[in-house]
This record gives sequence, C-alpha cells and structure tokens, in this order.
Amino acid sequence: MGNKLLLDQGSGGLASHRLVNEVFFRHLGNPILGRMDDAALLPRPKGPLAVSTDSFTVDPIFFPGGDIGSLAVHGTVNDVAMLGAKPLYLTCGFILEEGFDLDDLDRIVASMGQAARKARVKVVAGDTKVVPRGTADKIFINTTGIGEVVASPSPSGHRARPGDVVIISGSMGDHGLTVLSCRQGLAFDAPVESDCASLNHLILKLVTGLPAVHVLRDPTRGGLATSVNEIAQQSGVGVTLEEDAIPVKPVVRAGCDILGLDPLYLANEGKIICILPEKHAAKALTIMRRDPLGRDACIIGRVGAENPGKVVMRTGLGGRRLLGMLEGEQLPRIC
Ligand code: MG
Repeated sequence: MGNKLLLDQGSGGLASHRLVNEVFFRHLGNPILGRMDDAALLPRPKGPLAVSTDSFTVDPIFFPGGDIGSLAVHGTVNDVAMLGAKPLYLTCGFILEEGFDLDDLDRIVASMGQAARKARVKVVAGDTKVVPRGTADKIFINTTGIGEVVASPSPSGHRARPGDVVIISGSMGDHGLTVLSCRQGLAFDAPVESDCASLNHLILKLVTGLPAVHVLRDPTRGGLATSVNEIAQQSGVGVTLEEDAIPVKPVVRAGCDILGLDPLYLANEGKIICILPEKHAAKALTIMRRDPLGRDACIIGRVGAENPGKVVMRTGLGGRRLLGMLEGEQLPRIC
C-alpha cells in the first residue's frame, strides 16, 4: 500500500478490500463485523432501543486530547447514553478525500478502535467512499449508535420540573477552545486540551443508582447556554444559573478573553448536564465525583416555574440577565 489514498481504494474492488482488511478490520474488527454480509445481524436486547447519528467534520483532524476518530465514537456514544441507555453498537461511514495520508487514516481508525473498546461498544457495520481531490476535506466520519435503554422512565429534555437542580459534571469550553486555538495556531501559557470522552459508564452508574434523574444532556455544539435553553423550552420551565458556580478553567477563560468568546457557548465533548429533584442532588454529586470524568461536578442552578422557556443568569454581583441560545455559527467544524 502506498502512503496516499487512491480513488480505487473506495471502489468496492480489490484495492478497497485490501484497505478494509489492513486498516478498518485490523482496528475495529469483531465477529459481527467480520461476517461481511450486507447488514449486521444483532441480538435483540431486552429494553427499548436508543438510536443517534452524527457526522464529524472537525478541523483540524488531530488536536490535543483527541482526533476526529475518537470524537466520532465519543460523540455518538454520549448521545445514546443521555437517554439512560447502555450503548452497544456503532456503525461508521467514512468519506475520504483522494490523496489523504494513509498513516493518518490508520492513526484515526486505531483511535476509534481504542475509544470503542473503552466504551465497550462494537462497530458492527461500516462504509468507505473515496471522493476526488478537492471535493471533501481529508476525512469526514458519520457514526450511528444503538443502545439499550436501562433507565425507566428514560431521562429527557421534556422532564425538567420546578424544584429540580441543575448539575454539571465539570469545566466548560475545553473542547471548543482547544480546537479553535489549534486551528488558529495559538499557544497559551498553560496547556489546553479537549475533554472528549465517553460518558456511558458514568451515566450507567448515575441512572442505576438514581432512578429520579429527569434530564441528561451533553452540552456540545452551542455549549451550556444553548443546551439549557433547549431544555427550558422542551420542559416549559424557567432555569436560573449562578454564573460564579459554573466551572471554567483559568486557561479557557483567558483564551476566551483573547478571542472574544464566551465559554458558555463553546462545545464540550465529555460533560453532562444532569437535572433532578433537589433531594437527590447530594447522591448524584457523590456518584459523579467518584468517577474521574465527573470529579468537578457541582450544582450550577435550579429549575422554577417562572419565566417558562427562558434561562436567567445570576451574576456574582447579584445582577440578572437573560442567557439566550447561540446565535449564528460561532465556530464552524468544531465536531
Ligand atoms: Mg447531545
């Protein structure tokens, strides 16, 4: 195999078979994928299914803390898990640009395999297309995730109720600032790294230990501010957030100041918003803080009946302002 991708490696013929064996099966292989039929045959789980799909176009494709491959696994695993589901299977579709570096492809697929093993999900179906140079940018990946819902009832953006508290599992803005600073070639005094990680094991502990979880959501594109607005609208409730309680790393805050960005609108790829009745908050925090991915979990706000569909931010000085959704595209190709 040469070291640049050729058009015939996506043709379905001999060259693509070789690529599939040497790269995709080597890193993602398992008995279900290995059957090589037109579709994967999956055993039926006991509970309802949760399904989610996402396409990943992040630029740059490698960044501190991850790459487009690990992100394509974590992002979809997390979306499935947010329903209180145990992610079981993934499918992957690759759109590759002719001339793409094969060593980079190998590194990305290896990283997907590693992320999938850690999340304990199996890649059961996949597809590869190679498009002529200039008609795509290096590599785009679509993943679809299938999971078994174990929470009953399933957490949902429609279930926030007055009297609930809003918990966040850690600091905001790490992924967004990392990708943006990489793209612009900016270096900060302290290292900044994407938080991208699969949260399914933490979520399973949370929903099995606490059936009272009302909402789980990952504040990805549009950040915390947009996600909490979505929940307020879906549930028809008002949410008040405490500005001083929201964790933002000093390096992320400093970077945002330089770039004129608000960390509450930046994407996160390894964080959870958890909303549940106040009386269960202490237990949720204990469960989250025991896991390295939830070590910095804290309460950042509460749900009320006033201002339905709106999010109010209380500032450190006691002021109040409306926190809106992200307007326009702040950062293209962030995930
Ligand atoms: Mg999501």
